[in-house]
Amino acid sequence: MIVDFHSHSTASDGTLPALELLQRAQQQGVELMSITDHDSVAAYTGLVELLAQQPSEGLRDLRIVPGIELSCTWGKRTIHVVGLNIDLENTTLQQGIHSLQRARIERAEIIDKRLAKLGFEGGYAFAATLAGDSQIGRPHFAKFMVERGYVSNEPEAFKRYLGAGKVGDVKQVWPQMAEVVGWITAAGGVAVLAHPLHYKMTATKLRAIVTDFKLAGGRALEVINGKQPADRTQYLAKLCEQFELAASIGSDFHRPGPSWSELGQMGVLPASCTPVWELFPETSFRSISSNH
Ligand code: AMP
Ligand code: MN
Ligand code: MN
Ligand code: MN
Repeated sequence: MIVDFHSHSTASDGTLPALELLQRAQQQGVELMSITDHDSVAAYTGLVELLAQQPSEGLRDLRIVPGIELSCTWGKRTIHVVGLNIDLENTTLQQGIHSLQRARIERAEIIDKRLAKLGFEGGYAFAATLAGDSQIGRPHFAKFMVERGYVSNEPEAFKRYLGAGKVGDVKQVWPQMAEVVGWITAAGGVAVLAHPLHYKMTATKLRAIVTDFKLAGGRALEVINGKQPADRTQYLAKLCEQFELAASIGSDFHRPGPSWSELGQMGVLPASCTPVWELFPETSFRSISSNH
């Protein structure tokens, strides 16, 4: 079964609206998927109605599990936690998301001030207009810097000004990892530590965060994130085994093109892994489908 449990729509920093994202996933052969926008579940608003309007053969083979990618901190680091099979109506989760959205705006204002100090003025106005109803974030500031000619491309904007440890990396606004894991659990979902190897931790630190994550109620690691070397997959699969955690898989698709992985094209989880979807109880498998 082709599963893709990590993708972004226009509700955060992806370029495709939810329906186009789902259609593309179906074309790529995905059978089970989740849209996991940064700190937003807006992609799911009205989705059932949108799906019902599709021709019956439209997205018939695709099952959709409600999901999100939440921003948080652990120590001094910004960490992402994916929540899967969440109840979108849960108040604890909704309040948490609301607080993150406020934090994003505050953070954007701080980024704006810091960039202005370097002579890059008007970042907030540009980024906020670009973001519109979607969650404002550093990718919008990266586009601002490219548009104004301050850098030649988005990766350069991250490398010089917005990436980890740079002036635009404002992280003190996020809640603790344990707290956001709690929201996901409260919403009946499964918390997954997203892309554990992106944080560039030592093996010791990585074991420490996985320990804390599990203590907080986290239940899976994202063993595959996009196209990645086999040794990384094996390393994370081992970690799952040692910590008795399930495994998730996702493209982290943001837009078509070479800079991000394609939907559903990440290979399969190692046989030793317990797939995360086996943790979704039969009775509350919250899949949205156009097939009923
Ligand atoms: P934010 O949610 O505002 O913290 O922004 C994080 C997002 O920025 C990530 O989810 C990526 O989509 C994007 N991003 C992070 N690092 C880079 C990079 N080096 N180059 C391009 N995009 C990046
Ligand atoms: Mn992103
Ligand atoms: Mn992420
Ligand atoms: Mn992501």
